[in-house]
Amino acid sequence: MASWKILLVFCMIFLVFPAQVSLAEEGPDFRFFQRLSLFQREADGHLGPMDIRGDETWGNGVQLEVQIRIDEIAERVASVARFSTHQVQPGETLWDISRKYGIDVATLAGVNHDIANVHNIRAGDEIRVINIRGTVHKAKQGETVDCIAGEYGVCPEEIRRVNAEDLNSLEIGQEVVVPGAKPADFAERGGTLDSFVWPVTGGRISSHFGPRWGGFHEGLDIAVPTGTPVRAAKEGWVSFSGWNGGYGNTIDIDHGGGVVTRYAHNSRLLVSRGSFVYQGQVIAYSGNTGRSTGPHLHFEIHLNNRPVNPIRYLPPR
Ligand SMILES: [Zn+2]
Repeated sequence: MASWKILLVFCMIFLVFPAQVSLAEEGPDFRFFQRLSLFQREADGHLGPMDIRGDETWGNGVQLEVQIRIDEIAERVASVARFSTHQVQPGETLWDISRKYGIDVATLAGVNHDIANVHNIRAGDEIRVINIRGTVHKAKQGETVDCIAGEYGVCPEEIRRVNAEDLNSLEIGQEVVVPGAKPADFAERGGTLDSFVWPVTGGRISSHFGPRWGGFHEGLDIAVPTGTPVRAAKEGWVSFSGWNGGYGNTIDIDHGGGVVTRYAHNSRLLVSRGSFVYQGQVIAYSGNTGRSTGPHLHFEIHLNNRPVNPIRYLPPR
């Protein structure tokens, strides 16, 4: 078990209860148990029911065994939205900050509504950082959690789960974290919500999408030397990373909304299944693996399980 999780829980206990009740007679085990039960009550109030189990055996004094499901607690604590502040350093972009904190640019835009253009932040600016992906919604008159959930297409329960505050009666302007949502104005603020970037820089297009050799070529071939960095065309979750027959070393990225991209014939894969990747992040090095007649990247875009012509979705180059 990761020691930081244990540390986190203990930090929480001591933060919540700085003043200790004197329980000298009962011994240290009893004090520990007292703290835990108090912590449990506090945690219940903020995070919903916790699974902290105590099993007491009263003997020649006090003997207590406490079993804590630290993983569960740590997970709950981590899933509640928390903000911190980052001061922009000279030369730093919103992209750099997003990578530093492990969240996406859309989330940073979503929690910093004062950023008019995501490409234009200045050294010294204070940027709000959040620990989960999503956006911040400012409640309007008469709005409820259900209304907000409907607006962003998320479950009201998800909203309640990540917000530590009471959301039963929202005040006008009250900030509500909407997990998994993106700010509606992201594209207007320079975000790349719907656009792809080229997965490699340079290279000649050696084969287009369409009929080829009596079959159908479902992607775009870009001839590049082995070892060329291959980048995620768009942010998303890695849904496949490994060997895929004729495709050789392949990465598939699920971008949500029925959009999937594929990167084939690589020499080396750098990300594993289940990881989140940012647009432009290097995910592999190109190669000549699988059924390939020379070093190149085979790139596909799928919409709702059908391959489409990537050229139509990539920016001009
Ligand atoms: Zn190909």
